[in-house]
Amino acid sequence: MRDTLAGPRQLIKQLHAVMAAPLEAQARLDRIVRIIADNMVAEVSSLYVLREDGVLELYATHGLNPSAVHRTGLRVGQGLVGRVAKTAQPLNIINPRSHPGFAYLPETGEDEYNTFLGVPVLRAGRMLGVLTVQNRAPRRYDNEEVEALQTTAMVIAEIAGTGDLEQIPQPTAALDIKRQLHVSGVSLVEGIGLGRVVLHEPRVVVTQLLNDDAEHELNRLETALDKIRGNLVAHLSRDEVKGDGAPRDVLEAFLMIAQDRGWARKMSDVVRSGLTAEAAVERVQSDNRARLLRSTDRLVRERLHDLDDLANRLLRELMGRSPTSLAQITGDAIIVARSMGAAELLDYERARVRGLVMEEGTPASHVTLIARALGIPTIGQASGVTSLVESGEAIIVDAEGGDVHIRPSSDVENVFAEKVRFRARKQAQYRRLKQLPAVTRDGQDVTLSMNAGMLADMPHLKESGAAGVGLFRTEVLFMVAPSLPRIQAQEQLYRKIYEGAEGLPVVFRSLDIGGDKILPYLRRVEEENPAMGWRAVRLGLDRPGLLRTQIRALLLASGGAELRLMFPMVTTVAEFNAARAMFDRERRFLHTHGYTLPKSTKLGVMLETPSLLFELEELLAVTDFVSVGTNDLFQFAMAADRSNMRVAGRFDTMSQSFVRMLKRIADACREANVPVTVCGDYASRPLEALCLLGLGYTHLSMPPAAIGPVKAAIRATDLGRLRARLWPRLEPGRGNDDLRHLLSRFADANDIPV
Ligand code: PEP
Ligand code: MG
Repeated sequence: MRDTLAGPRQLIKQLHAVMAAPLEAQARLDRIVRIIADNMVAEVSSLYVLREDGVLELYATHGLNPSAVHRTGLRVGQGLVGRVAKTAQPLNIINPRSHPGFAYLPETGEDEYNTFLGVPVLRAGRMLGVLTVQNRAPRRYDNEEVEALQTTAMVIAEIAGTGDLEQIPQPTAALDIKRQLHVSGVSLVEGIGLGRVVLHEPRVVVTQLLNDDAEHELNRLETALDKIRGNLVAHLSRDEVKGDGAPRDVLEAFLMIAQDRGWARKMSDVVRSGLTAEAAVERVQSDNRARLLRSTDRLVRERLHDLDDLANRLLRELMGRSPTSLAQITGDAIIVARSMGAAELLDYERARVRGLVMEEGTPASHVTLIARALGIPTIGQASGVTSLVESGEAIIVDAEGGDVHIRPSSDVENVFAEKVRFRARKQAQYRRLKQLPAVTRDGQDVTLSMNAGMLADMPHLKESGAAGVGLFRTEVLFMVAPSLPRIQAQEQLYRKIYEGAEGLPVVFRSLDIGGDKILPYLRRVEEENPAMGWRAVRLGLDRPGLLRTQIRALLLASGGAELRLMFPMVTTVAEFNAARAMFDRERRFLHTHGYTLPKSTKLGVMLETPSLLFELEELLAVTDFVSVGTNDLFQFAMAADRSNMRVAGRFDTMSQSFVRMLKRIADACREANVPVTVCGDYASRPLEALCLLGLGYTHLSMPPAAIGPVKAAIRATDLGRLRARLWPRLEPGRGNDDLRHLLSRFADANDIPV
């Protein structure tokens, strides 16, 4: 049988001609299936295309009953064709009727055939349909033939990508490739955004599929592979891996794959079957994706990410392209990414970004911090989303609920457009509140400050009506800088923050880096438990160079104004004393050398480790102020990693134990007459903010967007009544009371918007 095969090269040549011919979509498909049948000496060749209702519709056939075209179909999983679609693997069998998966479709007349080969039609790992050949004589198709059919499937996938298939009149359902999809994730930054998909790492589009000279293409492939292997080795041999954006372990994984002979061999085989080097990379990657996407194992999926990255690097090398310029977007954009660094988000033009969707990303990740600062509705943990969308498609980010709507129907789009308008009206109401004080109905003044981390945050001070910056996360400045800012650069940055504050107070927090907060240009220390590792003030005290420089730059930048500085992750009073001693040394040094110093300084502690609760009296005797970091305090109190989605939401932040802990801090600070603020996310949610008010806190710091809603809740609250309800429930023995429920009922009964 092999002798009569015209050969894959012949097939490719003919496909070339069909692709170039000015044909209607249906005629092109009819021609393609006939060419396949002729070429593979098969009596039947058919194409099934997956519809949005899950049916694989017969779209073209040579050999089966032509009247069955567009009239017959199988469900995914049904019959042999359905099985190919389900597994995304070729199926090559003799005597199909005795196969357990065989489904007989009388209208096609296919019961006469004794051989079956089916291959999936894949686009970026997504199933589009199935291509088959059948013969009467029992024979097994050899590898070369399977390869040839897969190559043809890729050509068909390309036709699907151009939108050609949708030109074919459809009496029934639309194609799966255009199906409305809904992906659930986790809301990281609240809000709603509508726009068009901008893939953060766009798939390189291969336009030239079929090769004219296999030897030449093999050489190109080999050269490109050598080049990227060389680049990876060069990166890894540097002392510090920098600038590449990928940490060392990822580069090592890349190199392993790049050196894997199996990967290279597969691509070479595909080139020999008639594809260009680029198309071969894409074909092999599409197969890998289809296979690995079916795995639920996280490690396997991570490997898919590595493979994707490498395939993209290889494609760029082959096509001589540098990574697409990120900033070039038009219209309303929703960025869709697997994961993203904080600095990368800043490369986009803020005014056009309406939302961000990531497959990874957690509430505490850096990119989330930046997205929050920029007010970009963000969803993380949207599994597999990058392979479900194409650039330019319509998409909605609903970060109120954590949902992503891909290719939404006009009904869905209208509902969300209305929601966006509603939110805008609400924001306008909050803006009107800006001029009004945050005071309860019974006259308790509350100070509302904002959290910040970038220069870009500073204009929000005015817009939100905040009383000042209650938490300036200085590490964010460092994270978005291309290299470690030296003392002069730091001084300038801090000076600009002061300028932006226009005389309002700013509480700087010294660098909270280390652990999982990595500065790309600093050597990374691998740790089992980074959140509880060598981070923040621990690192600052052990490697004083960094902290001393920062303190000095802050002292110089204050230009005679008041300097407020607090230290993160202080675990013992001794640590605070050591940090304070370091601060005093720097101040003395600058003083002796005649520099202008702040007119006054206030040094504080972030209370975010439970151990300090048992040293509170000693702490309050030495600190000028306390700022409660509820994000970390809660994770350490509950032993529940704040960035691990499995446990981060497991315990209620209004559980008795935690609320009592917060009360204890408020009571002790009041007794010691030490100012206390809550700057963790707790303060930014109106119901939790009420709880804090009830416990005695009168200074809260939060992202600027939260100030309006929290102020509205405060202004509607009678604090005396709130306390009367809350306090008795915190007495010993009341541990079973549901405080969240209690406060929600109180808010409802008193018309407090929460
Ligand atoms: C906190 O832990 O609550 C806090 C405000 O600090 P960060 O979120 O930056 O760790
Ligand atoms: Mg913290």
